[in-house]
Amino acid sequence: MAIKIGPAGTNGDSLNKLKVLKELGLDAVEMEFVRGVQMSNELAGKIGEENKKHGLVISVHAPYYINLASEDKAKIEASKKRILDSCERGHHMGAKYIVFHAAYYGKLSLEDCFQIVLKSVVEMQEVIKKNGWDVVLCPETTGKASQFGDLDELIRLVKETGCGICIDFAHLEARYAKEYNYIDVVRKIKRIEHKTAHFSGIEYTTKGERKHIPTDLGKAKKLLDALKKEKVDITIICEAPDTWGDALKMKKLL
Ligand SMILES: [Zn+2]
Repeated sequence: MAIKIGPAGTNGDSLNKLKVLKELGLDAVEMEFVRGVQMSNELAGKIGEENKKHGLVISVHAPYYINLASEDKAKIEASKKRILDSCERGHHMGAKYIVFHAAYYGKLSLEDCFQIVLKSVVEMQEVIKKNGWDVVLCPETTGKASQFGDLDELIRLVKETGCGICIDFAHLEARYAKEYNYIDVVRKIKRIEHKTAHFSGIEYTTKGERKHIPTDLGKAKKLLDALKKEKVDITIICEAPDTWGDALKMKKLL
């Protein structure tokens, strides 16, 4: 293991881009199903087969339209289906970590929302186990106070369900409206077995995240230094607008 870096998305033609990523010197890629799971299991299987030649760390980002704490039960079920479809494709392509934004608090108290999300996570873990999919659910730290996904509540969810976590450092910065102290975060997540990360620049207001912007290499260096200092091995997916270009810049920095 080591710190691995790659882009969010393959810019189309995933099957043939793995080789290109590898030749550029990148180590990972996150498959973006953010607008829906359209990839067939067959193509996912071909990607997994092709990747045996390249050895990239593949992860999957499930669709954005997910709310495991919706007032509408049908929406919860649809959300679970989107995540589980992502898990199935992920399994076929050899992706271990399935990343998603879990829920919105809506009118719920923080604790009620937590319990509802926990219930769905446990139910999905049962389906994953039953199907023999070799994947781990990784809810992501989110960039808005209205969204479930504060760092501490996700760490609690990891402890109570054995799920993984995706630490989006840009979202943390937006959520807490300050440059997060990377070393503190790294120490907090150090002992979590299943973890992955997102990084980019971020523009935000008092309401939180507005959009991802080019990576601040000064901040990227601070993060890499913190990970090295604490000897934390993790995959970092770059979510800046130029995902490939910024991933390469970060890889150089590393
Ligand atoms: Zn992210």
